[in-house]
Amino acid sequence: MNNCFIILAAGDSRRFNSKTPKPYYLYKGKSLIKHSIDKAKNFKKFNKIILVINKKHKKNIKNLNIKNATIIIGGKTRAESSLKALNFIKEKKIKNVFVHDAARPNFSIKLLKKLLSNLKKNKAVVPFINSPDSIKYKYRKNTYNLLRENALLTQTPQAFRYKDLYSLVKKQKGKIQDESTLFIQKDLKVKFIRGESSNYKITYQNDMETKKINYGIGFDVHRLVKNKKLFLGGLKIKSKIGTLGHSDGDPVLHAIIDALLGACKMGDIGEKFSDKNKKFKNIRSTILLKQVIDEIKKKKFYINNIDINIITQKPKLKKFKKKIIKIISELCNISTDQINIKGKTTEKLGLIGKEKAIACEVITSVFNYNE
Ligand code: ZN
Repeated sequence: MNNCFIILAAGDSRRFNSKTPKPYYLYKGKSLIKHSIDKAKNFKKFNKIILVINKKHKKNIKNLNIKNATIIIGGKTRAESSLKALNFIKEKKIKNVFVHDAARPNFSIKLLKKLLSNLKKNKAVVPFINSPDSIKYKYRKNTYNLLRENALLTQTPQAFRYKDLYSLVKKQKGKIQDESTLFIQKDLKVKFIRGESSNYKITYQNDMETKKINYGIGFDVHRLVKNKKLFLGGLKIKSKIGTLGHSDGDPVLHAIIDALLGACKMGDIGEKFSDKNKKFKNIRSTILLKQVIDEIKKKKFYINNIDINIITQKPKLKKFKKKIIKIISELCNISTDQINIKGKTTEKLGLIGKEKAIACEVITSVFNYNE
C-alpha cells in the first residue's frame, strides 16, 4: 500500500465571507477538514494523509487537534500548494496520489474505491457529473450551445499516478483550477468516472444550510428554600436560598434539556429521568444534559442556537452570565456565540417576585442532518 491522500485547505475562502475560515467551519457537527480526514482514514487504503493549510490558519488548526494527518503550510496558489505537498512525499515511495478540496465534505468511500481501482489502468482518474442546467459557452464574440451530456463538471478527489502528476505540477507556473487541468493541457489521457451529486463544493455560507431546522421550547420552575444549594446553568452560585428538587434542581439546564428533547422530538425530561428513580437523586444536571447531547448527536441533530430567559428576583444574573454561557457551551459542545442569556425579574410580583421560586424558559433550534 503506497497511496497518499492530499487535502487542500490553503485558500483564503474570500467568497465564504465568515470570520471562521471555511475549512474550519462546522458542518454536520465537525469542521469541513475533519470530514475529509476521517473519510480518508476510514478507507484504510492510504498510508499517508497530508493536509495543506493556509499559514494564516495556524491557530485554527491547533484548536482542532488533528491526529491522523500530516500538516504542511501551502503556497499562494493551488498549484504551489499541491507542489509543496507532492514535494513533501517525494521520498516516501508513493505510487498513487489523490488530491482533494477540503470544501467537498460529502464524497463517499465508494467513490474512493472506484478511483483507486481505475488507477490500475490509468494515470489520471477524475470524477464528474453532468450539469442539471443547460450550458452556453461564450468565446470571443460567439456564443455556443453546449450539449449537457458533453459538458463535464469535474469534482475532487482526483486520483493520479504520483510520478506523472509530480512531473506536470513541477513544470506548472500559472494558475490551475484542478490537477486534471494539467493533463488536459498536455493532451494526456484522463479517465472520467461518474461522480456524486452529493459531493458538491461548499463555496458560500448558504451551502452549509440545511432545509431541516427544528425548534424546541423548554420551561422549568423550582421552589427556593433555605439550606439548599443553588445551581443555575451548571454554575454553583453562592446564595442563602437554593432550589428544591430531586436532582440538583437546576432550572436552566432542565429547561435546556426539555427544549432540546422537544426540538428533536424525543419526549421530555420527566420521561427520561424520572424523579421516582433513585439513580437520579441529587444527580448533577450537567450529567443529564450531557447524556441528552450524546443521544441527539447519535440521531444526527446539531444545535444551532439556545436562547434562555432566567426569571428570578435574586440573584442578579449579570455577573454570572458569561460563566454560565461558557459552561453550557462546553456541555453542549457548541461555541459560546450560539448561546444567549437574558435575566428577568417579575417586578416583585408573585412567587418569583417574593423569592419563593425561580423559573427558566428556553428556545432552541437544531439542524437535522439525517441523511
Ligand atoms: Zn427542574
